[in-house]
Amino acid sequence: MPKEMKYVYFFGGKKAEGKADMKALLGGKGANLAEMVNIGLPVPAGFTITTDVCTYYYANKNKYPKELKDQVAKSLLKIEKEMGAKFGDKVNPLLLSVRSGARASMPGMMDTILNLGLNDITVDALIKKTNNPRFVYDSYRRFVAMYGDVVLGLKPKDKHEHDPFEVIIDNLKEKRGVKLDTELTAEDLKELVVKFKKAIKDKTGSEFPDKPEEQLWGAVGAVFSSWMNERAIVYRKLNAIPESWGTAVNIQSMVFGNMGDDSGTGVAFTRDPATGNNIFYGEYLFNAQGEDVVAGTRTPLPIMELKKDDIRLYNELEKYRKILETHYKDMLDIEFTIQQGKLWMLQCRVGKRTGFAAVKMAVDMVNEKLISKEEAIMRIEPNQLNQLLRPIFDPVEKKKAIDAGKLLAKGLNAGPGAASGRIALSAEDAVKMAKEGNKVILVRIETSPEDIKGMNAAEGILTARGGMTSHAALVARQMGKVCVAGCGKLRIDYKQGTVGVEGLKTVLKEGDYISIDGSTGEVLADKLDTKPSEVIQVLISKTLDPKKSDVYKTYSSLMTWADSFRKLGIRTNADQPDQASNAIAFGAEGIGLCRTEHMFFGGERIKSVRKMILSDSLEGRKEALTELLPYQREDFKGIFKAMKGYPVTIRTLDPPLHEFLPQKDSKKEIDEMAKLLGVSAEKVKEKIESLHEFNPMLGFRGCRLGIMYPEITEMQARAIFEAACEAKKEGHKVKVEIMIPLVSHVKELKLQEEIVRKVAKEVMAEKKMKVDYLVGTMIELPRAALTANEIAEVAEFFSYGTNDLTQTTFGLSRDDAGKFLPLYVQSEILPVDPFEAIDQSGVGQLLEIGTTRGRQTRPNLKVGICGEHGGEPSSVEFCHRVGLNYVSCSPFRVPIARLAAARAVVTELQSNPDKKK
Ligand code: PEP
Ligand code: MG
Repeated sequence: MPKEMKYVYFFGGKKAEGKADMKALLGGKGANLAEMVNIGLPVPAGFTITTDVCTYYYANKNKYPKELKDQVAKSLLKIEKEMGAKFGDKVNPLLLSVRSGARASMPGMMDTILNLGLNDITVDALIKKTNNPRFVYDSYRRFVAMYGDVVLGLKPKDKHEHDPFEVIIDNLKEKRGVKLDTELTAEDLKELVVKFKKAIKDKTGSEFPDKPEEQLWGAVGAVFSSWMNERAIVYRKLNAIPESWGTAVNIQSMVFGNMGDDSGTGVAFTRDPATGNNIFYGEYLFNAQGEDVVAGTRTPLPIMELKKDDIRLYNELEKYRKILETHYKDMLDIEFTIQQGKLWMLQCRVGKRTGFAAVKMAVDMVNEKLISKEEAIMRIEPNQLNQLLRPIFDPVEKKKAIDAGKLLAKGLNAGPGAASGRIALSAEDAVKMAKEGNKVILVRIETSPEDIKGMNAAEGILTARGGMTSHAALVARQMGKVCVAGCGKLRIDYKQGTVGVEGLKTVLKEGDYISIDGSTGEVLADKLDTKPSEVIQVLISKTLDPKKSDVYKTYSSLMTWADSFRKLGIRTNADQPDQASNAIAFGAEGIGLCRTEHMFFGGERIKSVRKMILSDSLEGRKEALTELLPYQREDFKGIFKAMKGYPVTIRTLDPPLHEFLPQKDSKKEIDEMAKLLGVSAEKVKEKIESLHEFNPMLGFRGCRLGIMYPEITEMQARAIFEAACEAKKEGHKVKVEIMIPLVSHVKELKLQEEIVRKVAKEVMAEKKMKVDYLVGTMIELPRAALTANEIAEVAEFFSYGTNDLTQTTFGLSRDDAGKFLPLYVQSEILPVDPFEAIDQSGVGQLLEIGTTRGRQTRPNLKVGICGEHGGEPSSVEFCHRVGLNYVSCSPFRVPIARLAAARAVVTELQSNPDKKK
């Protein structure tokens, strides 16, 4: 007989059936509960129903595998044995929690039910057992409300409606003349249970189930169903979590933090998740259940206070903190409950963290010898570095604003960085306002998982309630958003659309500007300008001494390690000396693309460019080009000097000429141009007309310009070599690489190369100097990639222009695809926008073919990429895999590319440890 499938894994006492590396089957929560049991931490006994059951459930019209019932019953018996209580018992009843737990953490996205197993009989038994009717009825009313909401579907219909159970509670409190839930008596709570059940019956038609077993299966079904609720679907899309993973369900014996003053509950991080500092960081509440801490309905105390409140418990927690960090070698996020003086661990998982904290912890843990440099590199998603490169408020401006009385309130510094924007009071409004081009701050009393779309659209999030571990704080940190949480003085009125502040006259309206500082928790009225991050201040504006900035020092260690691993060179796309210097500060090792046309627009130059275009004779064009030459020479010289001997790849003119002329219907500009050049407006119009193309991107551009007008390439080459000679003469090292764009046939390249070499020879003879240089090409057209062996006969290097190569491979216009590409991505026709991340299976093949064929002809051919993909992490890793020599990206993405390039090497080493570094 085949062995029965195992769908249920028990944990409790000293042993668990699962372990940490079984996340795919047990979900993160279940696997870690098992692991905690295995390493000797006190965990209330329970069991996990596997993700396989979720898959089965959806594949079989919400049915369970037949073995499940029996396996659940057996594990339930084991819990009863371990905890010494019985499910549904008249004397000593066992209560359960039922929670979701997917492979990847999805905080708050799915449903949870606590205190399951309560009914009028078990309630009586518990009252006898605990002699605490208030606690028992409090648990009962929470259970009925939760079950009524999650399983039976009694919940607010839209954003304007209040929670129906809260309305009943508020009515009763008003009747009793009390303010807090804790002021309600046991009798009041008992009354609430009756009222809740009645409301459920009246509004949903369902009778509240009293049989514990029925309650259990209702809850299990609701948790599996919550895998497909809208917010879980949105969250999965945002975080690239496949639907096929499914969720597990964890059923665990309840322990109570609300059993009196010797009970409590808390959440903590083994290090500070916002800054990364190595301090125990968390919050707890005495006489409360977990949801009180997370939902932010009561403001919890910092964990350090527990030292004063109960040193024994604090020390025990501190001991577990150490055990966990040493075992997992990472920062963990834990949940615990104290029931009548006994500490129970309810959850542990690798904690979410800001980009700041990710870098700080990874670097610290290497220094503490907890992890290797490779692990540190793999722990940081390259885009997380953006947070270190993010703006902060200018302290002077902020002080001015505060002095002017604009400080409205202070909340918790839940997500660092500075953000200014217009107030949106609902997620829907935030999305709408952001779509209209506004910067938005989402302001909510507290956020719930329904708000994630709005949080994603906003620059920052501000909440009135909730601690550092509230939903708003957790999700914002994960998204890398600026966040101020728990700002209790705010008076937010959704109906009136206003935000007031306790004790102040100021009332802001939806749409008004507000500014939040996620590093200090300050909330200010109006718009405030922002100032660069510390890393930027050290590297770019040079206004901060590197020794005084911990953030910079940590960043710098990480970057040094990344550089010791990576094999890809990192260059930058820059057209101006200041951009070049910035890029060098960020670690660039050369310019991979200098677009010379950008230099044609500055100052007087455009006049000469237009004169050249309008001219009908070679002499006329040469005259105009002679005017342009000194400008270009100065530009190049500035760049050579800034690049300090690093290679500089300069591309000859690329865009269609009409881009330099006025639009055909802008009469004013045409007249001005005609006047300036001393020609008739008619002539200008004629030229514009004659340059009109139906498909300019596939028209008269790239090397085709230099072939038709060799004098343009001649002038550019002359400007480059004269500049190189001058810079060299002044003592600067210069490495020149001249790059011909949009080549499809080797003969095009040959013609342009001959011009460049002829001019180089002339200039060097004139200046009596020698300058090293290479002539290469961009590979931007499929034909060029396919005939790379021929092209490499002439080209000394290749640089993939993946913007054009993507355009021409897909036949998608890079200027027009924005209209429909988002739909393609949304409906999963394409996994990502191919103009953002390289299409590895299509365009990527051309990169591989081009590189292989090019190197067949010229084995040491240098190959790089200079399209926008050069700074996108997955594309950078791809470039490493196909053996490119370098990537080139915008200056601010250089650190990201450095890290991505290192991760590519570490990934390779991890999958093939024999491969030498
Ligand atoms: C490219 O096509 O990828 C490229 C770098 O050139 P441009 O974006 O200037 O066309
Ligand atoms: Mg191009």
